[in-house]
Amino acid sequence: MAQTVRPHEKLDLALIFLGPPGAGKGTQAKEVARLYGVPHLSTGDMLREHVAQGTSLGQRAQPIMARGELVPDSLVLKMIAERIERPDCSHGFVFDGFPRTVAQAQYLGVLLRQHGYKPPLVIHFVIDPQLLLRRITGRRVCKVGGEIYNIYDCPTRVEGHCDKDGGELEQRPDDREEIVGPRLLAYEKQTAPLVAYYRRLGRLHDVDASQGVDDVRQQILRSIREAH
Ligand SMILES: [Zn+2]
Repeated sequence: MAQTVRPHEKLDLALIFLGPPGAGKGTQAKEVARLYGVPHLSTGDMLREHVAQGTSLGQRAQPIMARGELVPDSLVLKMIAERIERPDCSHGFVFDGFPRTVAQAQYLGVLLRQHGYKPPLVIHFVIDPQLLLRRITGRRVCKVGGEIYNIYDCPTRVEGHCDKDGGELEQRPDDREEIVGPRLLAYEKQTAPLVAYYRRLGRLHDVDASQGVDDVRQQILRSIREAH
């Protein structure tokens, strides 16, 4: 396994992670943010935080999220604008789950320019949908310790039970094929214009997300170095 060397340079960039659900995007976004010492901005986490703290934004978002609908742009953009002005964002930040639309991307471009940033660098996770489906639908989680396995790629010694504590394994409801299949299709449809938009701007870097976690991370770090 390749060792991840902590980068010496500062990020000083807005990084965007674009990839289908289950492709490892969130894990990589968090790790890259940690390596560079910059905030990892997940719109989902940020929204849940606002809801938990009962901010006015949270109060508006809560019923929408409870219905399982997407929070409207106006709220999300307001939240992003406020967040990137905080001091911890002064040397760059990593977006995870944002932007979702070309309209949001255009707004973000303006916002970044206003704050003295160059256009964001977009890390695009490319993976065969069939492989991805197998990864997600094969996932099983230990009810006791939360360990994650995969019935295809990383099976337990005893079927249905955790290697570590013998806990019962379960499939998360969201990992079922009838949920994942439509989600992946919706993702493709929604993201294609965004991918085209950033590719046109010359800010899109493809990474091969079928590779292992360490290899994908190396690809990402290389892309960031090239972008400087
Ligand atoms: Zn366990």
